Amino acid sequence: MRPPILFPLFAETTALGGVGARVADLIEKVAGRRVIDLVFLAPAGVVDRRTIRRIAELTDGETATVVVRIDEHLPPSSNRAPRRIRASDPSGTMMIGFFHARAETLMKKFPVGETRVISGRIDRYHGTPQMMHPDRDGPEESLSSIAVVEPVYPLTAGLVPRVVVKAAAAAIERVPDLPEWQDTSWLKTRNWPPFRQAAIRLHNPETPADIDPDAPARARLAFDELLANQLALALVRRSLRRLKGRPTRGDGHLSGPLEAALPFSLTGSQRQVLSEITADMAADHRMLRLLQGDVGSGKTVVALLAMLTAVEAGGQAALLAPTEILARQHLQTVAPLAARIGIDTAILTGREKGKTRSRVLERLADGRSALVVGTHALLEEDVAFRDLRLAIIDEQHRFGVHQRLQLTSKGQGVDVLVMTATPIPRTLQLTAYGDMEVSRIIGKPPGRQPVKTVAMPNDRLDAVIDGLRRHIDGGGQAYWVCPLVEDSEDVADLTPATTRFETLQTLLGDRVGLVHGRMKGAEKDAVMTEFAEGRLSVLVATTVIEVGVDVPNATVMVIEHAERFGLAQLHQLRGRVGRGTGQSSCVLVYAQPLGAIAKERLATLRETDDGFVIAERDLKLRGAGELLGTRQSGLPAFRLADPEAHQDLMEPATDQARLILHRDPNLEGDVGKAARILLYLFERDAAIRYLRSG
Ligand code: ADP
Ligand code: MG
Repeated sequence: MRPPILFPLFAETTALGGVGARVADLIEKVAGRRVIDLVFLAPAGVVDRRTIRRIAELTDGETATVVVRIDEHLPPSSNRAPRRIRASDPSGTMMIGFFHARAETLMKKFPVGETRVISGRIDRYHGTPQMMHPDRDGPEESLSSIAVVEPVYPLTAGLVPRVVVKAAAAAIERVPDLPEWQDTSWLKTRNWPPFRQAAIRLHNPETPADIDPDAPARARLAFDELLANQLALALVRRSLRRLKGRPTRGDGHLSGPLEAALPFSLTGSQRQVLSEITADMAADHRMLRLLQGDVGSGKTVVALLAMLTAVEAGGQAALLAPTEILARQHLQTVAPLAARIGIDTAILTGREKGKTRSRVLERLADGRSALVVGTHALLEEDVAFRDLRLAIIDEQHRFGVHQRLQLTSKGQGVDVLVMTATPIPRTLQLTAYGDMEVSRIIGKPPGRQPVKTVAMPNDRLDAVIDGLRRHIDGGGQAYWVCPLVEDSEDVADLTPATTRFETLQTLLGDRVGLVHGRMKGAEKDAVMTEFAEGRLSVLVATTVIEVGVDVPNATVMVIEHAERFGLAQLHQLRGRVGRGTGQSSCVLVYAQPLGAIAKERLATLRETDDGFVIAERDLKLRGAGELLGTRQSGLPAFRLADPEAHQDLMEPATDQARLILHRDPNLEGDVGKAARILLYLFERDAAIRYLRSG
């Protein structure tokens, strides 16, 4: 239950004076529906209105505050022209302009002969200084309240700055004094204010420097958010560890023959990682381990060997993938290998329905299926296992912590291995996974050559297509990736892929196939299979092929509108080629002009194929949220903490979270109770149910 002290903050914004239903809808677009959303809406900048100018000194483009006498209201020169008011001070004359304003309203606000303070941006009208729509205006006495530093909030169409400023001011009035959850000596050395003061200061910057990420108020709030996040992760993790684990020890009677049957031998790094995993499984605590490895580093085979360890111990193992295509792909890799040693692999996705589905469920429940690969469908309530011992979650960043738990609740002491190809910088790793143990596959299987990467403007598309024709005439295969507009897979947005498919088919014949997210699963599979079996030479695709798809003979990757993709995504896409021993290439086709960030991205890809270097660069080029794919996942989105600007706070937050729980495991003391409030405040309270009763 949310502590009553926070109730005022979790009320709807309509509870605030001056916020009606219409304004609330607009505020929802920039902040959210509740008062707390406004409290946490950090200003994006400040306007400094402290410069008080004489008219003669006004310069174009500046924001200034002027004290003027109202001289005359001029009639508009046409219907569409603004109404203008002539005003002056002893140094000169200026205009104040308004579009769509009624004459009477203006007369009342700016009576002729009176003195008014106005503040806003200066431009010029026929050589005369002019202020269109002053941001602030009032009688002379209001000078001191107008000539201030004012926060600037993110805006949306229809929402005027003043409305947000007022609403935010009303919101922070509701912030109560809260007990301190941060370590007091730490606070003292940092010189940070208490929570309430910090919130007030956030919205009342006194100088532009107050907006900096390391300004005391902002840094404090960012730390609060990080601390809440770390506490939540620590609680979830602790409860996972507390749930008794079970030692799962393999005897090698399955993994041995499988390894012998592989057409290659494991790399040293794969072997190392596998031994870390099996040691963890054999221990009597629960495994909660992150397996990181760049695309193509060979995670799948490691996963399979770990799964076989669970089977050797008499249990079952499940591999959860974020998409249908990926689940099928895993099945294609895993099933034939497992079959060699007489093990059947089941699949369960949204596509298995009716009889097929119940048959799969039956076999999982009675243990006839030892291995299963699937999607979210595996999490459904009626899916039961005879003895699930290992859950492997691929591409974790698309799943939330909650889903992870859902799968583990289907067995006793289920060990969890999370696989990700996104090389996550250490600081972000703490944010996303807490202090989960990490195994990392370093390097790639031997014999791989780096993918030759070139960038080409799209006016050279003909040359690209010529090159492609030569490549496929020589028996090669290629991917051709087109972007989706706005990341959606709506029919209307498929035009780029569909159109490209049609032109390529005209030019290259029916060796060209098309796959996109709106196709039915079976259609998609059919096309992918044709491509995998070499019956198609070119696969035109949207980003559905981003992760996991594995066709070693495909050695060319063309990415159209490469400037629209993020760095990590381009790296993932490029990782689809270079999986065999031959030379692969990647052509980044871009539309001109290229923005600075896009230019940097393409340059980075040409320079390196080291996923970690790319991830660090990516983090610099854009927000951490995107890097972690927060949008599609249940992962925490940060409102005040900026994982890059505040990365120095990450470790102290982790330490403090640990310390709080160490001193007060059930959060019952003063600091503990305060920490509970913190969890509710930043909506990490789902973690509270992991505290032992109450
Ligand atoms: P990831 O899932 O990490 O992107 P995969 O597990 O799909 O990578 O492996 C990429 C390719 O490398 C697959 O075709 C796989 O069979 C192959 N592979 C894996 N390990 C080795 C190895 N030790 N030596 C040679 N090839 C390997
Ligand atoms: Mg893989």
